[in-house]
Amino acid sequence: MNYQKKSLPIQQLANGEILTTQAYIFKGNKPGPKIYLQGNLHGPEVFGTALLLELIQVIKKMKQMRGELIIVPCANPMGVNQTSYNSMIGRYNHQSGINWNRIFPTTPSAKARSAFQKENNNLSIESKLAEILHSISSGSDFILDIHTTGISSAEHIFTYSWMHKEFSALNVPIHLTLDPKNVVGAFDESHVIPFLQSVPKDKISKVATWEAHHNSDIDSDILKQRLSQIINWLAGIWNEKPTPRTKIEIYSKYTHLYAPTAGYFSWIKRVGDKVKKEEVYAFVYNPISEKIIPVKAKFSFILLGIYGIPAIASGEQIGWIALT
Ligand SMILES: [Zn+2]
Repeated sequence: MNYQKKSLPIQQLANGEILTTQAYIFKGNKPGPKIYLQGNLHGPEVFGTALLLELIQVIKKMKQMRGELIIVPCANPMGVNQTSYNSMIGRYNHQSGINWNRIFPTTPSAKARSAFQKENNNLSIESKLAEILHSISSGSDFILDIHTTGISSAEHIFTYSWMHKEFSALNVPIHLTLDPKNVVGAFDESHVIPFLQSVPKDKISKVATWEAHHNSDIDSDILKQRLSQIINWLAGIWNEKPTPRTKIEIYSKYTHLYAPTAGYFSWIKRVGDKVKKEEVYAFVYNPISEKIIPVKAKFSFILLGIYGIPAIASGEQIGWIALT
């Protein structure tokens, strides 16, 4: 397949250089849907970039394709360059404190605000990034935003209740249902929420955010697995026969897990484990009391992600869970 490589200027750095990102645009020789894929919107979530670069190699070798496929492997070149002492820390813009996936206008008033700022050449870097990613992805039939979670993660995907089947061939075992009433300014939402009142549901982009692995890691075996999953999903969209997953678990309630007690956490449960109410999921080492405290679940949940800081103050985020 031939493709066009488009360089998108994102930000001029203090020394005058221009930071860009690349969009790879494949146009098929048969009519078909427009598909948009991006990775690495959060800085530490480098897995998606490698996965999409692997996919580009596969697509380049294909003889024919339906529709259009646009791939942006590194959606946020600012975020990925934010590092400190062997850690990737670009989940937020450290100048503004803003989460890079809470920057997308999802209401008419937010859209009007950003249009005003653009007209008057007063755009924040967050608004500019949002606008560039939108300009290249809007109008797509399918949009997949590839992310990762924590230092350990059970693969899962976020999508709307009426879109689960559109992503079933991606073969992700756990689906989390997005709530159209609970809007945070994420990329996936911004392709759906503004259109819900005015456009029939089947004409709205099918969107999902795929938590494909864990942060700051590109495991080569997982990479191979996820590549076969994304190819399977694309095959389904292109009217070839995908291999369907037999069992998908869908959860509509999910949240961070907060440290009920301060100290050094040693996890007993692993990601993917279902933890029953009253079950011990970790031991916590407290250096002042000398105690080793078993931490019991206050309610039942499935552990989806374990975050990266093992020694933590009470009430801080320690994991990502869905309620069972
Ligand atoms: Zn993310």
